Amino acid sequence: MPAPASSEVLARLPLREDLRGSTPYGAPQLAVPVRLNTNENSYDVPDDVVDAIVEAIRDQARHLNRYPDREFSGLREDLAAYLGHDLDAAQIWAGNGSNEVLQHVLQAFGGPGRTALGFTPTYSMHPIISAGTGTTWIDGTRGYPGDLFGLDPERTAAQVTAADPDVVFLCSPNNPTGTALPLDVVRATYDAARGMVVVDEAYAEFARPGTPSALSLLPGRERLVVTRTMSKAFTLAGARLGYLAADPAVCDAFRLVRLPYHLSTLTQAAARAALWHCDVLLSTVEAIKEQRDRIVATLPSFGAVPVPSDANFVLFGGLGDERAVWRALLEHGVLIRDVGLPHHLRVTAGTPEETTSFLDALEAVLEAAAKAAKGASR
Ligand code: PMP
Repeated sequence: MPAPASSEVLARLPLREDLRGSTPYGAPQLAVPVRLNTNENSYDVPDDVVDAIVEAIRDQARHLNRYPDREFSGLREDLAAYLGHDLDAAQIWAGNGSNEVLQHVLQAFGGPGRTALGFTPTYSMHPIISAGTGTTWIDGTRGYPGDLFGLDPERTAAQVTAADPDVVFLCSPNNPTGTALPLDVVRATYDAARGMVVVDEAYAEFARPGTPSALSLLPGRERLVVTRTMSKAFTLAGARLGYLAADPAVCDAFRLVRLPYHLSTLTQAAARAALWHCDVLLSTVEAIKEQRDRIVATLPSFGAVPVPSDANFVLFGGLGDERAVWRALLEHGVLIRDVGLPHHLRVTAGTPEETTSFLDALEAVLEAAAKAAKGASR
């Protein structure tokens, strides 16, 4: 007898009712030549940093018989020093990717009977982590005349007041749209909110000059949390190190929900070694921003409409059938992201060569689509 499909078994299992029918996070991981779909940094970790990480891990390997420093004290100090803004190690928290620190926020401040508000389209994991922690997600809206995906202080604060959520998510620069938020939106959100306000700054290092960080708003705002990651600018997505800055009391709340020893000795050692070389690691940021700006500047000549970006990716619209374009690009060996927004796709800015492959493929795909449309209308 053939084994039953796993979906049939899942339907029989005593799964939590609120998880039935949900879809897991699932950006495709395909072995194609040009992978520009998950906003990773396309550059390998530089040799100097590889050596430093290997050495740091080697030093620690002998001590793996012991649990890690549960307080990851050295790492918190290094992260505070990197962030600046007069932050102290007591204000820093970290986890296995910023997804985990976001989960800590929701475990501590969300949960069953509580709500989280975010403004879609935004990072798809915000609602998924909310669901995983039993927090009810509330879909806020973006856009106002003149800015399809923007948030302004008045409309944002009005939605916060109306929904009265326990946690509000802002994302700056916002994934998938790419644009950073003015600080007056963060201030207005905070003033309108009763609950915690999270500003997800995963892409902060790529912002255009003059873009302020919500870190500057932390003093005097005990319900504000600013999350960051080493997965993007730091080229360390595989290391899984995300972190946040907040009031020390907020970090104490996370101590109530985190698993003991959640950051392995190896992760702490690798992240610290990388932070000691942050100048070298961050040297790819300017090169990536150049490619991002090149994509934004080039797309209009193909009839596509890019959204201004402060991140290492570009959302672009103006596509007839975005799924057909996505599939055709894949046939050219270029994997980008269908974020589920009609007529739009998102592409990560990679190396100059990858960007050229993407732009050449897109031009060919859109030209072919235009020809086919002309042929059909004759
Ligand atoms: N926030 C945003 C806005 C993201 O786009 C991502 C990754 N795509 C993350 C957080 C999570 O990244 P990580 O868990 O690798 O730190």
